[in-house]
Amino acid sequence: MDRCIFCEIAAGRAPASIVYEDADVVAFMDIRPVNPGHLLVITREHHRNIFDCPPVLAGKLLAAAARLAGPLQRATNAAGLNLLIANERAGGQDVFHIHLHMLPRHVGDGFGFRLPPSHPERPPRAELDEMAAAIRKEITEEKSP
Ligand SMILES: [Zn+2]
Repeated sequence: MDRCIFCEIAAGRAPASIVYEDADVVAFMDIRPVNPGHLLVITREHHRNIFDCPPVLAGKLLAAAARLAGPLQRATNAAGLNLLIANERAGGQDVFHIHLHMLPRHVGDGFGFRLPPSHPERPPRAELDEMAAAIRKEITEEKSP
């Protein structure tokens, strides 16, 4: 089995520029930053991504990000900040240990989300309601034993 680089960092066995750590999460500098100050926040426990991470633990990634947002903004003089978790290859995930990106943003920095050509169209309400119902049904089924 291949070793997981983020587990190695969490255990202190691989080098990283640590910004913050507690019992549940570790935050460190991305080695290929999109912008200066680009941080990753990971769980100490190995979970592949949002699909297998316990919700309470996933919440701790966001709690740490909220705590780090101000310090990161002040240290980088960022005008904005994006938080992003990429899940699976189709979602842009490259390291398969859940990580939340903290991306300091500046006007005109060249980074951004590319929207599909169909994006300007507003789907009819019935279509939104149908999708909402399909998702609600899955929530209900997930709760039952
Ligand atoms: Zn891992």
